[in-house]
Amino acid sequence: MRIKDCNWKMVEEYLRHDDRAVLPLGSIEQHAGLSLAVDATLSEAVAVQAAQPLGVPVFPAQPYGFTPTYMAYPGTMTLRLETLLAVLRDLIGSLHAHGFRRVLIVNGHGGNNGAGSLLQELGRELPGMQLRWHNWWAAPRTIGFVHETDPQASHASWMENFAGLTRLEGVSQPASPKPLVDYARMALMSPQAKREYLGDGCYGGHYEKDEATMTRLWNIAVDETREQIEAPWLDSE
Ligand SMILES: [Zn+2]
Repeated sequence: MRIKDCNWKMVEEYLRHDDRAVLPLGSIEQHAGLSLAVDATLSEAVAVQAAQPLGVPVFPAQPYGFTPTYMAYPGTMTLRLETLLAVLRDLIGSLHAHGFRRVLIVNGHGGNNGAGSLLQELGRELPGMQLRWHNWWAAPRTIGFVHETDPQASHASWMENFAGLTRLEGVSQPASPKPLVDYARMALMSPQAKREYLGDGCYGGHYEKDEATMTRLWNIAVDETREQIEAPWLDSE
């Protein structure tokens, strides 16, 4: 269930019989011809669908993430790493204060991974708290399906291009695939040099796939995310 569809009494009632919650994380950043909000939109949508049959609440995605690398692309918004850590500390602390004890972070942006180690620290600081970080797009069966469909698929390719979610009306995608970028070289570049190297912003692969392929990818990602909400947690007290 979405927190935006709940009032506080419903959350209080839920906490009488369950202590799980899902917090999606995103990033507002360039995704070539796709929406700047891809990472926030997809992490929340996959989390909502995964949690739905379990009745576990999903909070609105924390939309902003750590993405200094794309700051040469207008519309990209980055938090400093220390800000992201502070935001996560406050949000997870709030969940703990209300009695949530098993929290899954559904992350939609690789650049946020540096903040993932915070979970180990908070797990020690907050009594009884169990925290897990799930990169939904990189889960084994999800990324396995992506790479067997298109070995070059990466940032802003078809794997993030979902009709009704991240695809923009009236924007047509290039018909031919882009060769995969050189990650090692790119990691050394300034944001401006990176923009010159990347051009549209896609890292590689086809830009769009048919609906059947997208539905298969989505269903795998939802299943894998649901498994993370369900288990394995330690027995709660
Ligand atoms: Zn993305």
